[in-house]
Parts: sequence; C-alpha cells; structure tokens
Amino acid sequence: MEQSTKTPILYLEQFLDNQIYIMRDDLLPFSFGGNKVRKALLFFEEIDAQGCDTVVTYGSGGSNHCRIVANMAAQRGLTCHVISTEGDSLCANRRMVESFGAVVHGCAVEQVAATIDRVMEQLRQAGRKPYFIPGGGHGNTGTRAYDLAYNQILEFSAKSGVEFDYIFFASGTGTTHAGLICGKKRAGSAHQKIVGISIARRNPRGGQVVADSVESYCGSPAGEDLIFDDSFICGGYGQYNQEIENTIRRLLHSYGLPLDPTYTGKAYHGMECYLRRNQIRNQNILFIHTGGTPLFYDWVMK
Ligand SMILES: *Cc1c(COP(=O)(O)O)cnc(C)c1O
Repeated sequence: MEQSTKTPILYLEQFLDNQIYIMRDDLLPFSFGGNKVRKALLFFEEIDAQGCDTVVTYGSGGSNHCRIVANMAAQRGLTCHVISTEGDSLCANRRMVESFGAVVHGCAVEQVAATIDRVMEQLRQAGRKPYFIPGGGHGNTGTRAYDLAYNQILEFSAKSGVEFDYIFFASGTGTTHAGLICGKKRAGSAHQKIVGISIARRNPRGGQVVADSVESYCGSPAGEDLIFDDSFICGGYGQYNQEIENTIRRLLHSYGLPLDPTYTGKAYHGMECYLRRNQIRNQNILFIHTGGTPLFYDWVMK
C-alpha cells in the first residue's frame, strides 16, 4: 500500500478575530492517523534498510505511538515488543497493541530503561536483529518527520496566499515541535511563531528537551523561536477539566471534529486561552490536529 503523508489544511473558524485553519494529520491514512504515523514511516524505512526482524519500543497504555508501531510491525510480519508502565490498560490503544500480537512487558516507571536493555539483550542473545524506537518516536528521525511536514504547510501557503502567523499543536516528547522549528528556520519564516502547548511536561525541562532536539537535528540553537507553554497541563499527562471537555464538545458539535482530552482537546483549549491572554487579533493561525482518535473514543465511552 502506498503511504501518502499529504493531509488537508482547511479553514475552520474565526476566533477573537483570528482566522483558524486546521491541518488534519489525524487523517493520515494508516492506523487512525496522527503525528506518530509520520514518524513511524521514517523509522520503518530504517528498519527495512537495516533488515531488522524485531521492533522494540516504549510507551504508556494509552500511547498512540505504540499502537502505530505495533500495527506497522504486524503489517510487515515483524515481532514487536512494547515496554510499558503498569496500569491504564483498559483503553483502545492498548487493546489494539495486544491484538496486533505485540509482546507487552509491564514494569514500574523506574524500571523502564533497565527493562528496555534487558529485552534488547535477550533478543540479541536469541539471534534476533532488534531495532529500538524511542518512546514517542523521539530523536532525529522523529524530528525529521515534522521538518518534512513543514514543506506541506509552505506548499499550502504558496497556493492559497495564506501565510500563517502562528502554528499551535500539542507538544509531548517534543520532536513534532522541534521538526516544525527546524522547518521554519530552513524556510526563513522569521515572523512566524510556533507555539507548542505542553500536554504534560513543565518548563524548564519540557522546553529544554525541544531545544536539545532542534540543536541535535539542525545543528543550530532554537533560540527565541522556541515557545513551549506549560500553563495548560492541568495537573499532568491525561488530566483534564470541564473547560477542555467543553472545547471538545463545541468542536465536535460545530464541525464534526473529534479531539481528545489528553492531546488535541487540551492543546486547542490551550490555544484559545493563549490567544485571549496575549490579546492576539487578526492573525492567520494553523492548528495541527496531531491525531489520537482512539483516545477520543475512550473519552466518549467513559
Ligand atoms: C504523541 C502525540 C503528541 C505529541 O507529539 P510529540 O512529538 O511527542 O511532542 C501530540 N498529539 C498526539 C495525538 C500524540 O499522540
């Protein structure tokens, strides 16, 4: 099957006199889409090129990354091992990971690194050729996915004449964010602001991880191009409040757009607050829908 990574960029709504557009990366045509598809496609190019026969990765029970990696491994007939912290197993992503035949190794948070090392070593001992994908598709390969995606944003602007003053999205492990900053630097879109709404991490660490990823990938510092806003984490990963739920309901009712409370709903609500708080008006704004549709269903079924 051919894997296209071109997704629609559509006008969504006016908000506080700003024009909001949305990039539908949730519609990437593999395993319910999302930013982890762009990253995984690049990781699997390396896996195929190196002739690895086993894939090992890490993520929570709700991880979109693990679902997509396990699905891509199953598609190729490769064995997949998922190291995961115990708990939160009653969600659609975990169920799918299991249904793809992945071996799940539950462990305590402090044991993650040691468990990864142990599983990798056991596989090598058994004569396998394992490939490790960092949690969330972290690293230069993950960063490249959104450096490349930035080209699609540039193409849209060239065709439509709409230049984006701001780009917003849910920022987690940071390479979606880092890739967009590197794309912007490359394109010389100096005035544009790229705002990652943190869904879990606090500054300074959260922003520092993005800065390190930028530096590692494009060799120059992110500098003032880096805006990592941790004001909307709402207590941490997977935590949300009534306002986030209201935002999800509003966008679903008005536009048939599914957002989830862990990532995209939290980020969209964060964007609304950011625009209001900073009195931003008359700007063209792009919100990147980074996927997570199975988490939308977890929320609906609660
Ligand atoms: C992983 C994920 C993110 C965060 O992407 P990072 O590159 O890890 O920052 C945002 N949205 C969704 C739906 C995700 O699954």
